[in-house]
Amino acid sequence: MSINELIEKKESELHNTRLLAKTMIPRGILLLTDTGVHMTHAEADRLDREKTARGRTTGKSHVYRFYVNTVYDLDVDFLDNDGRYIQHSCDPNCAFRILGNVVEYTSARDIMKGEELTIGYRFGIDDDNPYEFMNHPCNCGSKNCFGYILDKSEWEKARRLLEKLDRTS
Ligand SMILES: [Zn+2]
Repeated sequence: MSINELIEKKESELHNTRLLAKTMIPRGILLLTDTGVHMTHAEADRLDREKTARGRTTGKSHVYRFYVNTVYDLDVDFLDNDGRYIQHSCDPNCAFRILGNVVEYTSARDIMKGEELTIGYRFGIDDDNPYEFMNHPCNCGSKNCFGYILDKSEWEKARRLLEKLDRTS
């Protein structure tokens, strides 16, 4: 679904395109729904490699996908799916849930006019490559910013990993 009367798309050459609240939005409002297709993790990985290869020549590459379960991902990388422009924040004002092949975004609290819409990306720590999260620094600017893009449930684990790094260096 495209942007409705509540949301403004702000495009910029330098920064990522963002979504801003055009008006005050109360908590619990359904803001966007994006529809996708299920694919296995192997199919999704192959698609990523193709997109990355193409991105090298066009300067544009985009992955917009959700982990569904151990078998499937939901690929929502389609042109009119605007949820891709909702950036990560360590203190997000929106929430999302996956219902079948649909991703629903709702306001998680009252959002002020002009405020950027954000969600918490559900990035996890990969036990085979635990420090990979350090490749994704976060500059969300919120007071509680963790410094890396990670699901909140992983912050404690990440802190322990970072302490271990401090002790060994
Ligand atoms: Zn942050």
